[in-house]
Amino acid sequence: MDIIHLLPDSVANQIAAGEVIQRPASCLKELVENSLDAGATRVQVIVRDAGRTLLQVIDDGMGMSEMDARLAFERHATSKIREAQDLFSLRTMGFRGEALASICAVAQVEMTTRRKEDETGTLIEIHGSDVVRQEPCACPVGTNIKVSNLFFNVPVRRKFLKTDQTELRNLLNEFYHIVLVYPKVSFTFVHNDEILLELPVGTEKQRIEAVFGNPKKNVYTSAFVEVKTETEMVGIRGFVIKPENATRKAEQYFFVNGRYMRHPYFQKAVQTAYSGMLTADYQPSYFICFDIEPEAIDVNIHPTKTEIKFADEQTIFQILMASVREALGKFTLAPTIDFDTPNNIDIPLPVDAPVSRPQVTVDPTYNPFHTRGTIYPDRPQKNWESLYEPFSTPQETEIPNIEHTPIWQYGGKYIFVSTEEGLLMVNQHRAHAAVLYAQFMEQLTQTRGAMQQLLFPEVLLLAQDEMVLIGQLLPDLKTIGFDLEQLSPDSYSIQGVPAQLAQQSPIPVLQHILAQVRERGADTQREWREQIALTLAQNAAIPYGKNLSEIEMRDLLTRLVALPQYRRTADGKTIVSLLTDDELNKRF
Ligand code: ADP
Ligand code: MG
Repeated sequence: MDIIHLLPDSVANQIAAGEVIQRPASCLKELVENSLDAGATRVQVIVRDAGRTLLQVIDDGMGMSEMDARLAFERHATSKIREAQDLFSLRTMGFRGEALASICAVAQVEMTTRRKEDETGTLIEIHGSDVVRQEPCACPVGTNIKVSNLFFNVPVRRKFLKTDQTELRNLLNEFYHIVLVYPKVSFTFVHNDEILLELPVGTEKQRIEAVFGNPKKNVYTSAFVEVKTETEMVGIRGFVIKPENATRKAEQYFFVNGRYMRHPYFQKAVQTAYSGMLTADYQPSYFICFDIEPEAIDVNIHPTKTEIKFADEQTIFQILMASVREALGKFTLAPTIDFDTPNNIDIPLPVDAPVSRPQVTVDPTYNPFHTRGTIYPDRPQKNWESLYEPFSTPQETEIPNIEHTPIWQYGGKYIFVSTEEGLLMVNQHRAHAAVLYAQFMEQLTQTRGAMQQLLFPEVLLLAQDEMVLIGQLLPDLKTIGFDLEQLSPDSYSIQGVPAQLAQQSPIPVLQHILAQVRERGADTQREWREQIALTLAQNAAIPYGKNLSEIEMRDLLTRLVALPQYRRTADGKTIVSLLTDDELNKRF
């Protein structure tokens, strides 16, 4: 008996949908891209419950004929390419003819559409690939597509959706990727009847301001300088942040031919251009568009992938770096770059640097009842051996009492303690950060933090995705001691801060927290609490260069060794290291 048969379209479409439509944000992207491909000048996005119950996109584009309205939902039905050759001169966002077929396989879709030349429009309703209604209707020119109850027939997908706040942030981020390169199209974004974004037609700079800043004040974009370079191979234009305005919270956007892309190698080029100009762990914000012949890039990328391959990445790397340097006014100081001889400067090769989550490591060898020596007779006893890096072999000697042992500070950075087994070196900033991290975690999970009222409240301006994010973190930020109150749809006032942070200006600290949570993709309460505690600890810990008294040093060490895990920080950095007598003697 033959056992092979063709899958019904509805099943094939549902399988394909698994790849194209992974979450509400991917559905939104496909719908808005279709509107832009249809030449729309105005696009409205209406969302309910972060896209779970409704995702609606209304455009004033070219619309569809009665026949096309039906065909559009077939798989591999597209008006954008006819033959393979067309793939190499692509100027539209879509071309696979997969999106609508995928969406209608996993949702209930209702669409009305009309072309300028038609008197009546068409209404079509499809539930899970089945056409339940198609009829003429009266409607404006353009297309209005309503996607309800996404994944109604795929419970597994529905279950894998994250919290509404996270999905809404995903929707907004996907929306930013598109609206930033289409300043000549007006957009609105409405969530649960609230207008989150209203973007009028304007210049690219005005669009950036409207998304991330405040169009009335123009404070955001005044922190940027323009980049503009034309070469035979590529055109590069956009905006890069002035080094003095960089923060830890960077907006980094690359676009190629009107499409958002991620490109870690080119990101390195921008970063290299800033080298020596940024404070440690500050990141440059940038909005950079590449214009390039479509043949020079690989277009056949997967719709959900945002990495794009270029034909000659090394040369573009150099052009990009030089353009950014020039824009930063540093060109005259940097070595001149000769584009005809590649590799005349040190350029890293493309790498996909994985981002790793900080890990809280547990020290399995720790034994609080180990009694080989004492630090302070009246405190929990702990042997110094467990402080040593694992590669140092501890010897069977008595551990000195550090109360009477020499201790001193070196270079404003390290605390040195002379022990019988050698020289113990402790990084002062990390030691304090580890102590504070434990304290903040405890306050977040068990007690509460003490709050210090600010004399002058400060205002924190935020983009819409950050407003959503801060809403999610708000209860924990309050527990830890921030007194925050929403001022307007895009700002919070800061009236109090955790007592440990009283010396810091609160805005960069909060921005750092948001950046950290966002970068690490911390999506569960446990994960974002760890990020909050870690960031606060790093900001509040005694800095390098601070002179410590002997009492302060001993106190810090005592608090450090009382932690269950104190060799490394929560994000895996070394706190203590031992230079043994043997290692020392070898040097002489
Ligand atoms: P693709 O965009 O890859 O061609 P889609 O499944 O997204 O595939 O859309 C199928 C076709 O439906 C498009 O090629 C286009 O002709 C038509 N279409 C979809 N959305 C719109 C719209 N908003 N306005 C006009 N035509 C549209
Ligand atoms: Mg499409």
